[in-house]
Amino acid sequence: MSDEILPCVPGLFDQSGGAARLHGSRCASCRTPYFPRSAECHNPDCGGSRMEDCSFAGNGVLWSFSVADFPPPPPHRYDKPFVPYAIGVVDLDCGLRVVGQMVDPPSALRVGDTVELVISELYHEDGKAFTSWKFRQLAAAAAGSE
Ligand SMILES: [Zn+2]
Repeated sequence: MSDEILPCVPGLFDQSGGAARLHGSRCASCRTPYFPRSAECHNPDCGGSRMEDCSFAGNGVLWSFSVADFPPPPPHRYDKPFVPYAIGVVDLDCGLRVVGQMVDPPSALRVGDTVELVISELYHEDGKAFTSWKFRQLAAAAAGSE
């Protein structure tokens, strides 16, 4: 067990109060969501420039995914031995499309799966566990498969 659990990037996400949340922003004019935070709106149909901090949470739908069959290059870190994992593109119900590592093995995933945002350990170093946001299938979690 690790003594200390730290986010891999401070300020990008948290799980205070139990629910995983991503910290991003939203355009005050057109409501386009951004993660990570954006200083300006990139919607070509929007002339607004005032951004509001916003947290994103909850469930979503797996829009697509890719499988990382080989270790990521530096500066990415991972636990050895490397285990292939899926990287999902998820449409959160709150309107944000976001990329994240999947908790479930690639063979278990299907486009269209309902997934939930979670904070999960990404790698371990110097007795510390570093976390990131990930997505987990709701059905697989209910079935207890891992
Ligand atoms: Zn906008």
